[in-house]
Amino acid sequence: MSIFNTNSVPEPPAHPTGNPQSAVVIGLGRFGLSMATELEASGVEVLGIDCNPEVVQRASALIRHVVRADATDKEALAQLAVDEYACGVVTIGGDLAASILSASALLTLHCPQVWAKASSVEQGEILNQMGITRVFYPESEMGLRAAHQVAQSFEDYIDLGHGFALVITSLGPRYCGKTLGELDVRRRDGFSIVAIQSPADTWETAHAKTILSPADRVMVVAPTRIISKITRRD
Ligand code: ATP
Repeated sequence: MSIFNTNSVPEPPAHPTGNPQSAVVIGLGRFGLSMATELEASGVEVLGIDCNPEVVQRASALIRHVVRADATDKEALAQLAVDEYACGVVTIGGDLAASILSASALLTLHCPQVWAKASSVEQGEILNQMGITRVFYPESEMGLRAAHQVAQSFEDYIDLGHGFALVITSLGPRYCGKTLGELDVRRRDGFSIVAIQSPADTWETAHAKTILSPADRVMVVAPTRIISKITRRD
């Protein structure tokens, strides 16, 4: 059983008492630490776990509850009451065995939801076969997003899954000067304008009476086959 606490590292909370806004983040590398920090900033009760004492030391300056433990050790995770957290996220990418064993331990301990990061298709396939709630591929997802930004000059491209994507772009003159209701974009063009940002303004929800100007940025949700047809020239 390997949980190692040091004097400078705070103790983890005894029990998050099934708080639906709670998560265990296993692995506090670049991805895990940024996830844990953002979750905590959003009000989620976070327990960070890493086996590397230096990583734990650094992380303890950024998140409240961090513990040094080997996450492949089921007994150690049981003692940390990981099943009391609403979600367990394994962010170990490089060490395939550690990733699989940690995810397996969370499943065995009945952690209500288990998410895991995969650094390769093979790793993702194994994690999916194990019955992980969700496997994500940050490197390839980011690559896809960057490729669409470069190829189509979208300011942002986020694959939503299920054949849909969200893009931030501006639209051509055909879409300017009339209300979105008159343009009937959703029916005629097959995409939805969900939000709009006029120059130097904040984003606002788009509605039927919204009128676009050429300099406006829009947030569009559409099937991916339609997205490629959206251009600023139209
Ligand atoms: P990133 O890109 O997010 O920095 P990575 O995929 O390059 O991550 P990994 O080597 O996979 O990095 O490890 C991420 C973190 O997981 C490291 O801080 C490492 O110490 C931790 N880690 C690795 N194995 C275990 C384990 N068995 N138990 C707990 N933490 C672990």
